[in-house]
Amino acid sequence: MTLTETRRYPPDNSVGLNPVGLKSIELVKRFRTFKRLKTVKSWLCLGLFVCQPAAAEDLVQYSTIGALLAGEYDGDMSVARLTRMGNFGLGAVNGLAGEMMALDGAFYVADAQGKTTRLEADSRMPFAIVTRWQPQQTRSVQNVKNSDYAALQQACAGLADNPNVPAALRIDGLFSELLLRSERPQQKPYAPLAQVMKTDEVRFRADDVRGTLIGFYTPGYLSGVSVPGYHFHFIAEDLRLGGHVLDAQLAQGNISVQLLTGFRVEFPDNSRFARLNLFEDHAQALRRVEGLEGLPE
Ligand SMILES: [Zn+2]
Repeated sequence: MTLTETRRYPPDNSVGLNPVGLKSIELVKRFRTFKRLKTVKSWLCLGLFVCQPAAAEDLVQYSTIGALLAGEYDGDMSVARLTRMGNFGLGAVNGLAGEMMALDGAFYVADAQGKTTRLEADSRMPFAIVTRWQPQQTRSVQNVKNSDYAALQQACAGLADNPNVPAALRIDGLFSELLLRSERPQQKPYAPLAQVMKTDEVRFRADDVRGTLIGFYTPGYLSGVSVPGYHFHFIAEDLRLGGHVLDAQLAQGNISVQLLTGFRVEFPDNSRFARLNLFEDHAQALRRVEGLEGLPE
């Protein structure tokens, strides 16, 4: 597999804005003519504009993965509210009626057949992770005929280069193979997620499909709150297919990463959440649900 870096944000010369600014002010004092002063001021303005680093963004999460595993499938978070917190992300919809994907500010759900439709502004979710997408680095990936999901995750790790903070990841390209899953909608009283996945998980394969993997890397120390490691959902370029990613092979595409400088969790403000037992160790159930069972820890 060959990785070729094509872009880098912010550019390297954006580092050290303040020292450059202070030095320039010192230089300004030495100029006596108004014309020269005006010229330097113009350069200062240009420098500030060019060097402005991208705004730092937070990972914003609604509810916890522990609550979802415990069977809390009805949330109060609407698409309209979530849109104000981010334009890129993933999650589930109420009643576990499918997997959610947010791309370029539009929110979609993939049903049990993988069929994808746009969510209405008043659609609600029990669990979601979003951010404002501002890629810091992008690499084109080629010659990946033998690239499996693990290799793809390794490429993401090399690009992010900081395992101690969360990262948003976007992979656009041609996928030679995808194994996706969604689930059939649930009726109350809800069973725990691991149990639901035994009976109502639906897996589907897709070959040679163009689209986008929308994902997050979360450090392991945040497990219980979020899904540790890599978590990807897929949406096809024609917006007709989507789902939670169990396996992926990328023929050709671009991997982009955005390191996230904060992690904000909004807890559901309702009595059901208050009554959940979130103190159990969900690690085993999570590995089963996320399709990680059988893989090394
Ligand atoms: Zn998922």
